[in-house]
Amino acid sequence: MKIYNSLTQRVEEFVPNEPGKVSMYTCGPTVYHFAHIGNLRTYIMEDVLEKTLRYADYDVKRVMNITDVGHLSSDADTGEDKMIKGAKREHKTVMEIAKFYTDAFFSDMAKLNIKMPDVVEPATNCIDEFIKMISALLEKGFAYKAGENIYFDTSKLKSYYVFGNQSEEELMVGVRDDVTEDTNKKNKNDFVLWFTKSKFEDQALKWDSPWGVGYPGWHIECSCISMKHLGEKMDIHCGGVDNMFPHHTNEIAQSESFLGHRWCNYWFHVHHLNDQTGKMSKSKGEFLTVSLLEKKGYNPVAYRLFCLQSHYRKPLMFSFEALDQAEGTYKKLINRIASVKAEGSTDEAALKEWKNKFVEAVGNDINTSMGITLLYDVLKSDLNGATKRAIIADYDKVLSLDLIKAADASAPADEHANDDPELVAYVEGKIAERKAAKKEKNFELADAIRAELLEKGIVIEDTREGVKWKKA
Ligand SMILES: [Zn+2]
Repeated sequence: MKIYNSLTQRVEEFVPNEPGKVSMYTCGPTVYHFAHIGNLRTYIMEDVLEKTLRYADYDVKRVMNITDVGHLSSDADTGEDKMIKGAKREHKTVMEIAKFYTDAFFSDMAKLNIKMPDVVEPATNCIDEFIKMISALLEKGFAYKAGENIYFDTSKLKSYYVFGNQSEEELMVGVRDDVTEDTNKKNKNDFVLWFTKSKFEDQALKWDSPWGVGYPGWHIECSCISMKHLGEKMDIHCGGVDNMFPHHTNEIAQSESFLGHRWCNYWFHVHHLNDQTGKMSKSKGEFLTVSLLEKKGYNPVAYRLFCLQSHYRKPLMFSFEALDQAEGTYKKLINRIASVKAEGSTDEAALKEWKNKFVEAVGNDINTSMGITLLYDVLKSDLNGATKRAIIADYDKVLSLDLIKAADASAPADEHANDDPELVAYVEGKIAERKAAKKEKNFELADAIRAELLEKGIVIEDTREGVKWKKA
């Protein structure tokens, strides 16, 4: 397999530390709000990476943290505390907010067919580990106390900008987010390991530490949680491109200073989801969540397909028109698979041959669109029905588009063949009207259309595969 490594800025042959085994770490969500579909693009592509490794017979252990403490609105330790902000907005405690949005995140993952990592660890579980690592960094001279907080001293490093792509503009932290720079810092890029004297008097979560009662900075958690479960050497660390700086840069700084050796070999970064105005989660307008897509009548799996159609290292342009197209493609694909009858016996040699093709295609820096092309090649091939279905089911271990399940559940094309054509045209027209109403969030009209159909003895049902109808 080959993957692009942000550390070397090249596509490299993937060689794990231990043959056949892969240790993989994912930066998890800060659970103060619903996840934006732009952030979920990152989790979808990381899921494909993990599943491709498994498909290529690697034994993968994947760990993800949940940030439930210490993340300020600017990644560089300034601005508001995200968790406190969420709690205030909803008149709940910080722990209630964390629980609610952690569950919401898991539910989004399930809807997008993202596998749960082997280990999911909330930051608040690991305070002792954070304190141990910070103490060691102080002892080794990589950290200092100032204004009663503990900071990492970036001037002690041989090199700090490990990803080599820092522009001055990105470093103008104080200017960019319109917040005041922390005057305790000795160097511009030093970062907080432990807050004791904080400007947040109402910080709900506090722990005893050798430096007084306080709470951890954001970056420390990923270093500690990954080492706790994956040891001192790790193969792949994943995240979104916006995690590269300062978050991943700081993770490497503190981890390698603590360990005294190289920590993680491959860094995998997924690019932004954009719209006409720029990075979506930062732009104004509707806050796009999986639930909102569902309310508008979309199948979340169609959003997954939309993501898989393009490469993870390119920004992806989102629009509802583009999502409509992906959903249309999905429906056509499912219909084509539904037309494949499970005839003949599975040709095991062909199954193996097509598996190798898939590993070669998708294993080349997670080229998901090539994987989808192969799916069509299977459908077009001369293989018998049983073999085609077996290969498609196999590919779906990585693509996770419910291909066989949706095809088997989809109604045969001639389901309403014996109904009065006039009635069919009328009902389908109404279903289209209702879909348009839903898209415009006119739920009243959508409900009225459903009621109108019911009055005429037609029951409609929303399913993952689309709207179905029958006579009551
Ligand atoms: Zn992280």
